[in-house]
This record gives sequence, structure tokens and C-alpha cells, in this order.
Amino acid sequence: MYRTSPETLGIISNFDAPFMCDPATLLNSEIKEKAAQPGKEKTVALPPGAKTETAGHDKLFPQVPSKDILHGCTYTFEYKDKSRKVKFGKVLFRPHGILGRGTLVVEVTCCCNDDGCACAWKDLDLVMKLSFASNTRDPEVTFIQECMDIVARDPAHNWVLNHLPEVHATFSIPFGPGTVQGRLKEEFGDDYEERELHGSIQSRLYELMSLETSREFGQAIYDIVQCHEWVHEHARILHRDISLKNMMVRRASDGTKFGVLNDFDLALFVDRPKASPTSNHRTGTRPFMAHEQHDPDWKGPVLARHDLESFFYATLLLSCIYEKPGGKVVSSGAKTHYDTWLESGDDSLSSQKIRLLHKKHPWLRRIQWALRFGFVGREYFEVLSDEVDEDQMHELNKKLTFDDKTLNGKVTYDMMIMTMYTFNEVDLVTRSSKRQAFVDQFRLKWESQRKTRGF
Ligand SMILES: [Zn+2]
Repeated sequence: MYRTSPETLGIISNFDAPFMCDPATLLNSEIKEKAAQPGKEKTVALPPGAKTETAGHDKLFPQVPSKDILHGCTYTFEYKDKSRKVKFGKVLFRPHGILGRGTLVVEVTCCCNDDGCACAWKDLDLVMKLSFASNTRDPEVTFIQECMDIVARDPAHNWVLNHLPEVHATFSIPFGPGTVQGRLKEEFGDDYEERELHGSIQSRLYELMSLETSREFGQAIYDIVQCHEWVHEHARILHRDISLKNMMVRRASDGTKFGVLNDFDLALFVDRPKASPTSNHRTGTRPFMAHEQHDPDWKGPVLARHDLESFFYATLLLSCIYEKPGGKVVSSGAKTHYDTWLESGDDSLSSQKIRLLHKKHPWLRRIQWALRFGFVGREYFEVLSDEVDEDQMHELNKKLTFDDKTLNGKVTYDMMIMTMYTFNEVDLVTRSSKRQAFVDQFRLKWESQRKTRGF
């Protein structure tokens, strides 16, 4: 093995990793130290991806393989008809659970020159994102590119660039004949869903928890809702995985922070439905999923209002589980009620969310009411449609309609914007001129109502 080149061993071509020639480098420094001390227990290196979660296992094998396993590895890919090499740094995020659902995010630096980087990437904080997705799915960058193309055609949309990931390069690695993937395909035929490794080099984004004040959190989430609307209305893309993990922050060179809608791995083009196994309707990150999506019999369609409902849960969990600056709430060692949401299954989450929507809630009231009255309205409509006969139905035809897309106008982007444009009675920044005009109009109407009603 020591004599074999990484290329020969390589599961991924052009990936050059010291551990592929020398498995001893898989050990992290703590274990190496222990192993070096005579009389101490002997440790062994485990293969990459080895399970480390077993109780007691962490004590014996702390972080095996080491979280720095990719540090110093390099990857070479095609870039503008030449090859470009990047060196890996710290792993920022790695997937857990089902393959294809997670994305590996690792810091990288450009090695375009023997002495380091001498290109336009020099002063950029870069990451490489790698996801192992079904090849029937559009890779994330397809969605981002669609947005970029729209902005390129009309500079009025420029504002949205601050709120989308910035992609510098992309590549795909198919698994052909002879690979494990290829052999599985030969064995199982159409029953085997082929996957591809998609990679991209993107500007680094920061976790929502890196923000420091409540107002910054308010602005970031408001930014992301505005971006979500733009992406849905203009690019006809539905994100489908709103969660705290996918809300990120961009730090501009002047210190301004922008909320960024990140991770389009589960997105779909609204007008181009696909019938692949991974484009099924029940998708997303469980604690944030719309309550209907917890039902295994629910058949969709997935709508923008489901993502808006996810924004409600994300804001709720953010406020209840975390406290500024980005630390977890610690209340006498006990878990908060919403902590359990992070570990609950579909049945439990479904009933907890239904209860939450239907009871009086002291805050986030406007969004909660919109959802509540929307669903109550739908139930009323369904009962009524069952009870009236055909003649009555004909008579009532005009009245008996219900717009499920918006729960009859209750759960809309307008409602979200009206709810979110101020924070502690001081305006947040509304990003598009169209939405600013809407906010101005809404404020005038609201103020005149206040005067008329005397409150
Ligand atoms: Zn460079």
C-alpha cells in the first residue's frame, strides 16, 4: 500500500491524500501520543467513515478518523480548459446519515502557482462542497446558475447576489464501469439509483450562529425570506429544505452582513417536475418540515407555503433554543421544550406542530395566526364540500373555492414581508425596490388604520 500511488488507490481520481498511501496518518494526534508512550494501550487506525458514535467508543478512539483527515490533501480539476489544484484545510461540515442527503464542506486554498495562489482567488475565503447525489437530480449549481443568468439579463436584480452562494468553479465525477457504483448498477439494473459526486468551489459563508445581536438575526432571516421569494418568483425554483443549517451569513469586506439562502441540493424547478425517487414530496430537515409533510401518506404537491411554514419553525427554534451571541440556552441543565424537536420522529413532530398551530401563541403571532386560520379555513371548506349536494354545489360554486397554494391568501410572501420588515419597531433593510414600495404602502395603510381606530 505504501508503494501504491494515490491515483492507483484512488476512489476519486485526481484526489491526492497522504492517508491513502499511509493509513497511520488517519490517527489523530492524541492517539499518536498515547501509542508512543510505552505501557499504554495499543490503538489501531480505523478506515475512513468508520462508525464512531457507539457508547464508550469515543473514549477509546476519539475522533477516528481525525477531523483533520483531509488537511493537506489536494484535489485537481478542470478549470477554464486548464487544470487547477486546491489544497484542503479544515472540514467545516460533514454529512451524517443517509448518503446523498449531506454535503461535505471543507476549507480550500488555491495552489495555481508553485508558491501558492496568484490568481483572482488569492484574497478569497474558499470552500469546496462535495455532494454525492442521484444522477437524476440537478446538482445544486444548476439552480444557482439559473439565478445568475436572470440577474445577468437585468441588473435590477443585482441585490439578490448578496443572498445567494457565490460559485467559482464546478465539477462532476461520474462512477463508471469497474467502480463499486458501476458494479452495483450491473447487479441491480434499474432498481439501483446511480449517484454522482458533484463538487464546487464557493466563497465561504458563515453560520447563522456567528451573528451577535438579535437585530442581526432578524435582518438575516428577513434577507433569506426575500431571497427565497425572488428565487421562487423569478427563477421558478423551490428550495425545499429551509432549516437553520441552510441559513448562512455573508460578510462583505466593509463588515456588512447578509443573510444567504444556502444549499440547493434538494431544490427543484417548479415548472419542470421530475419523477425520480429523490424528488419525492417528503423532504427537508425534519424539525423544520411543514407539518403536513410528516404524514407518510401525504402526496404533495410541495408548495412555497410549505417552505414559509418551515421559516416559522426555524425562527421559533432559533429563538427558543439559542440565545445571543449564538450560544445554546442553558436553563438549569434541563432541555427546553423545543430541544426535543431536534430528536423527535415524524409522529411526534406532526402532533406537536398541529397543537402549536391551533393554540394561542404569545409571539410570532402574525405568522402563527396566518397558518392557523389558513388550515382552519381549509378544514371548513373540506367539511362543507362533503356536505353539500350537487345542486347546492352549483349554486355555491363561486363561493366554494379554496386556494390551497396560499391557504386562501393567508400564507403568502406578502404576509411574511409585512410580519418581518421591522424589528423592535425599527425598520430592517428591505432589499428590492419592489418590496420597499410594498412596505411603504403597507405602512401608510397601517398608520391610517391606527388613527381611525385610535390605537
Ligand atoms: Zn490561485
